Amino acid sequence: MVGLPEGYRRLVEEVANVYTWIESQQQREPHRAGSCNACGACCDFIAYGHRLYVTPPELVYLAAKLNVDRLASMPTGRCPYQHDNRCTIHEHRFAGCRMFTCRGDSAFQSDLSEAALKRLKQLCEDFRVPYRYQDLPTALNTFAIQSYGFGPDWGATPNSSTA
Ligand code: SF4
Ligand code: SF4
Repeated sequence: MVGLPEGYRRLVEEVANVYTWIESQQQREPHRAGSCNACGACCDFIAYGHRLYVTPPELVYLAAKLNVDRLASMPTGRCPYQHDNRCTIHEHRFAGCRMFTCRGDSAFQSDLSEAALKRLKQLCEDFRVPYRYQDLPTALNTFAIQSYGFGPDWGATPNSSTA
């Protein structure tokens, strides 16, 4: 993370905190959170029949962790980060990937998603990042770190709640 603008680095840290918080909520109620055997079926969204929505802080976080300006494009219904049915970015995966399991309590997941989304939305406000709620293909195909205007002074003075 050396060389990143201070605000960028702090935003990445805050997203990590959201992910840690998600995990703590799941650990509090493991039976409702559900389990996953990592079969990879749900990462092929069209075939599985569901969608994943992501927010700018999650995309910025992933780009920072992969040290890239652009993310992999998604020309098909399958997440481009899945290879041989395995998530190649498991450690840095999106919030929805962390919360969804086909074996969980849907009410628990829905409440957790709503709360996590609120935190991610707040990060957009705190760090002056335009809030978007995009499905994964749209988000991946259009993401460019330059569009966030990150420069040497970006985010040096985030709003008060994160200062
Ligand atoms: S990031 Fe990983 S877990 Fe999430 S959809 Fe892509 S392959 Fe699946
Ligand atoms: S949530 Fe279900 S479908 Fe998705 S990888 Fe886990 S076990 Fe497979």
